[in-house]
Amino acid sequence: MTIRRRELLRQLGSAAAAAAVFPKVIESASAEDPTARRVRLNRNESAYGPSEKANAAFQEMLKEVNRYPGDEVENLRAGLAAAHGVQPENLTLGCGSTEIMRMAAEACLGHGKTLATASSTYDFITHAARLVGAEVRSVPLSRDYGHDLEAMTKAATASGLVYICNPNNPTGTLTPKSDLETFLRKVPSGVAVLMDEAYHDYVAPTSAYASWAAGAAANPQLIVTRTFSKIYGLAGLRVGYAVSSTETAKRLATRRVPMDVSSVAARVALAALADTAYTKKIAATNANDRQEFFNQVNARMLRCLDSQTNFVLMRTGSSGEEAAKMLRKQGVLVGAGYPGFEKHIRVSLGLPEDMESFWRTWDSLMPHHPM
Ligand code: PLP
Repeated sequence: MTIRRRELLRQLGSAAAAAAVFPKVIESASAEDPTARRVRLNRNESAYGPSEKANAAFQEMLKEVNRYPGDEVENLRAGLAAAHGVQPENLTLGCGSTEIMRMAAEACLGHGKTLATASSTYDFITHAARLVGAEVRSVPLSRDYGHDLEAMTKAATASGLVYICNPNNPTGTLTPKSDLETFLRKVPSGVAVLMDEAYHDYVAPTSAYASWAAGAAANPQLIVTRTFSKIYGLAGLRVGYAVSSTETAKRLATRRVPMDVSSVAARVALAALADTAYTKKIAATNANDRQEFFNQVNARMLRCLDSQTNFVLMRTGSSGEEAAKMLRKQGVLVGAGYPGFEKHIRVSLGLPEDMESFWRTWDSLMPHHPM
């Protein structure tokens, strides 16, 4: 009895510790009332959802949910390997790329090690690093909103992990390809680099950007993460992956929760991956939606960053958090509170009717002067 109580208290203690470390993540997951009608422009999800082929695979797999995951997971790994021109052994699957980041933090960091990250960027890995006792050093973004790679290399010290989000969240901006090439040549051998390419598929072809996924197989320092949560429209299914050298993949795998990717998720992700016509269509639709957003910004003489993604960081002129609160009261959810961008809100691009709601609400709440 005493042992059970002690164990319960221990578990409650570790839950409280995790809640203290992951406050934002937990808060953002629970803050939404699923019964209320919301215009959800706060989590950079795809408003267009998954392809019909992915939907069909989902229906098909429901007949087999009594079975533990089996071949589906290996099939997804093989499909991803073929798509990236690497071997299945170079792939690590996870419950979203979030799980891969947690694995990478556990594998590459710990007491006495340093995570070098940007400010502002996607901050989940910061929480994961702190949880394993690592020091976190945040380096402000450069003036054109890329990562300041020289400062980040210095911040990483002799051993640790550098996190690069490209395109970056919340700015939607790119770190130039040439800067990354120089950085990867110079980064000290004890330092690992996690390149988060969650928004890769939204970037229009440009000489300023290249994916590092295929190159990661031959680079023992590099881990490139991708996700099915964005352009594939499968955020609720929780599938992400990393491409890395086989040695690094083995290290990551030691931190993996067994059967973390469900059979349904793996089969649906494979169908989504194969439907390249759909992802191309969504990328084109997103480019139009983004242009329309820029038009609306210009029409109101507002300012925003030049996004390459499915969200835009827009200047509000006064507290972004206050603006987000006012919008939320009207049922419009946006992101805010990013260090260095306190007078901005991050607006995920939704369906045209969602964007109409956003602008109607904005116009009703905000004073009509340029920000
Ligand atoms: N990486 C970035 C840059 C993100 O913005 C997000 C989610 O918004 C994630 C990773 C998390 O992705 P996943 O759903 O694969 O865990």
